[in-house]
Amino acid sequence: METDLRRTWTEINLDHLLYNYHALRERIGKTVKFLGVVKADAYGHGAVQVAKTLQDAGADYLAVSSLDEARELRNHDIIMPILILGHTPPEQVGELIRMNITQAVSAEAKAEEYSAEAVKCQGTLNIHIKVDTGMSRLGFLCDGAHFEGGVARIAHSCALPGLHAEGIFTHFAVSDEPGEEENAYTKEQFALFCHVIDALKEQGCTFPIRHCANSGAVAYHPEMWLDMVRPGILLYGLSQMADVLGLKPVMSLKTNVSTIKTYEAGTTISYGRLFKTEERTRVGVLPIGYADGFFRSLSNIYQVMTEDGKAPILGRICMDMCMVDLTSCPNVAVGSEVEIFGMKNSANVMAQMAQTIPYEITCAVSKRVPRVYYRNGKILERKLWIDD
Ligand SMILES: *Cc1c(COP(=O)(O)O)cnc(C)c1O
Repeated sequence: METDLRRTWTEINLDHLLYNYHALRERIGKTVKFLGVVKADAYGHGAVQVAKTLQDAGADYLAVSSLDEARELRNHDIIMPILILGHTPPEQVGELIRMNITQAVSAEAKAEEYSAEAVKCQGTLNIHIKVDTGMSRLGFLCDGAHFEGGVARIAHSCALPGLHAEGIFTHFAVSDEPGEEENAYTKEQFALFCHVIDALKEQGCTFPIRHCANSGAVAYHPEMWLDMVRPGILLYGLSQMADVLGLKPVMSLKTNVSTIKTYEAGTTISYGRLFKTEERTRVGVLPIGYADGFFRSLSNIYQVMTEDGKAPILGRICMDMCMVDLTSCPNVAVGSEVEIFGMKNSANVMAQMAQTIPYEITCAVSKRVPRVYYRNGKILERKLWIDD
């Protein structure tokens, strides 16, 4: 533990996760179910600990993107319902049924393959129908000329033997952007989704769980919460929406100063000689680089947070290291803690500077960076993906 903590690590604050969960729960009210999106290792936070926390807190559902991700959770005592949002090969339907995992179904051909497999296994596969209302990714096409046919294909899929259609859902393309045009597009997607559900109802095909609200719709469109909401990034306390809702970032990426040297004016620093000192400069080396998930595009522009305030990155970020200007940080010494992003240095800002979104920032933290889980201010677990 101690040796890891002297290099680079993330702190995953489960108290903040719980705070965000309860704040969102309060927002949606008692009648709406809560699905926590924990795909991609819970956006880099570690799916097992996040899922355990949500399970203990009383969340209703989890979502992952693949069977491998679902299996990891089932192998770690997660017994609550899990929905796989992405594709699962039909050969694995037996495993889905055995592990009681719900599968998204995005086309009639898939429904038929899943049905045949489920019948072969003499089991029932729980499914959620995915409708494409304008994301143009997965789902039954139902817009315009596709409406009648799309509805018929969904109805046929739901009636197949071996399948139990528990839910129906769609996904929004721009619900997280509050502009007028984006708003109108989201409303159109929602209207189409409701239209499809109504047409299916007329054919006697109903669904206990209708859901469409990702974080954007949880933040901006209460009328779209339906039976269940499906937030991801809000749970992790990131994005502008999270700031507006007063949520707390769950992940901090931290490192330590490993070396400090003072250079004369005119010294170039790091690969490419991008930065040249203009005066005597006190330079710290941080043991974190792009292989840890610290984007190289932040070279020469980002500022890390020290106990004496911000310290600019000097020159290129290397694979395993980067350099910072500590000239105006006199109290920072070898061994001092530095925050790359977290409570003091928002990952939202870091994302903007790297011309990306905070999702990519936390997902990019690589497997050699230990995740240290905090609960009630104390270390609960330390997870290292590289074998000790
Ligand atoms: C990733 C994902 C979500 C969560 O999105 P956020 O923007 O993080 O809230 C919800 N639904 C589906 C289908 C997704 O793929």
